Amino acid sequence: MRSLYISDLHLHEERPAANERFFRFVEEDAAGADALYVLGDLFEYWIGDEDLETPFNAIVVSFFRRLAAAGTRLYFMHGNRDFLLGSRFAAAAGIELLADPSVNDGILLMHGDTLCIDDIDYQNWRRTARDAAWQRGFLAKSLDERRAVVHGLREKSKEVIGAKPAEIMDVNDGAVREALRRHGVTRLVHGHTHRPGVHRLAVDGRRCERWVLPDWYGAGGYLEVVQGKPRLVRW
Ligand code: MN
Repeated sequence: MRSLYISDLHLHEERPAANERFFRFVEEDAAGADALYVLGDLFEYWIGDEDLETPFNAIVVSFFRRLAAAGTRLYFMHGNRDFLLGSRFAAAAGIELLADPSVNDGILLMHGDTLCIDDIDYQNWRRTARDAAWQRGFLAKSLDERRAVVHGLREKSKEVIGAKPAEIMDVNDGAVREALRRHGVTRLVHGHTHRPGVHRLAVDGRRCERWVLPDWYGAGGYLEVVQGKPRLVRW
């Protein structure tokens, strides 16, 4: 049993290096895997499934579909950039949508943003963006209008992130412990913080591990679990 975990690819047609890396990852690294988990922020942003027909998005979908057709089970969990990705995308790509959090094969899976509870501004924005009324309003706009809204938000977020101390954008230790305790597991995999590595901690006397996935802005990489043994692969 070989499962792969990726997140924070931030695919966008204007970032060809990450895109090429993704196409190669699907065709080479992921070939023959039993399962591939995409734990959010696959796309730099996703403005609604009507955008599926955009040539770049259609190419990404086709790569997933071929992998699924070859027998790899595909799972997708929303990130804070692509939380509007929906069932039409899932059906076209042959990918199953997973709730955040989910436990699969005994591993707690999260995007990771819900663990960053010290970032109050971000948590407020998250509450707005996940609100059904806000999403209805956004999705009622034309694709061009939505794109304009997202570009505005990205500019704002660059300023805000630049001004924030790094610690508050990392996970909160208590939130990590609480998640491991609540789900009764000893292994957590998440992305979002762009701080790849493994952290070992004891929760109620149990030895636990938190694996953080790399983003693909730099070198990129993935987590591979073979017969229950995890390994971070960096390029
Ligand atoms: Mn994220």
